[in-house]
Amino acid sequence: MGRNLEGKCRQCRREGIRLYLKGDRCYTDKCAIERRAYPPGEHGQTRSRHSKVSPYAQQLREKQKARRIYGIMERQFRKYFAWAERRKGVTGEILLQLLETRLDNVTYRLGIAPSRNAARQIVRHGHMKVNGRKVDIPSYGLRVGDVVAVCEKSRELSFIKDTVANRRRTEMQEWLDFDDKAMTGRVVRVPSREQIPVPLQEQLIVELYSK
Ligand code: SF4
Repeated sequence: MGRNLEGKCRQCRREGIRLYLKGDRCYTDKCAIERRAYPPGEHGQTRSRHSKVSPYAQQLREKQKARRIYGIMERQFRKYFAWAERRKGVTGEILLQLLETRLDNVTYRLGIAPSRNAARQIVRHGHMKVNGRKVDIPSYGLRVGDVVAVCEKSRELSFIKDTVANRRRTEMQEWLDFDDKAMTGRVVRVPSREQIPVPLQEQLIVELYSK
């Protein structure tokens, strides 16, 4: 499967916001957005963020931002959009719900991993179970009622134990439930748009793909 090889901080600087791609470092003043708040590249400092951008460029940026936040390649992102379009409801919101309920994202939201990237690794390496069965597919789509747990043997691994112990409780999502001791979480409900804290204008993505 393809993956984005562009530097993580570079991706944030391109979008002009913290995308929290590196875990703990993102919450410190070592964050590159703090130190170099201009786009990467030779002309990064001379190009103004406030110069006029076309509607198309805005839509494109929003889509790229979404892809970067969730760590998804273009082809897969388009598939998610096609699924969202086929479902009844607000396409932009459904798109975000599909992305949020991926197993890697839920592992991150539960505080088992410090970033989505780390969550993907944890899932791929077979440390997670869904409804009692090992699942190593990061894109695995979860449903309401699904129980997500760290495998028994993996609960003692220091990088998982420490992350769970130090997880930022304020980040815990209302649509998820988590038992620290058992390292087990549950999808309580599908998140509404207000319960998805990502700085995206998903309507622009819908406009881009609807052309
Ligand atoms: Fe983005 Fe984190 Fe790098 Fe800051 S430290 S620029 S939030 S990846």
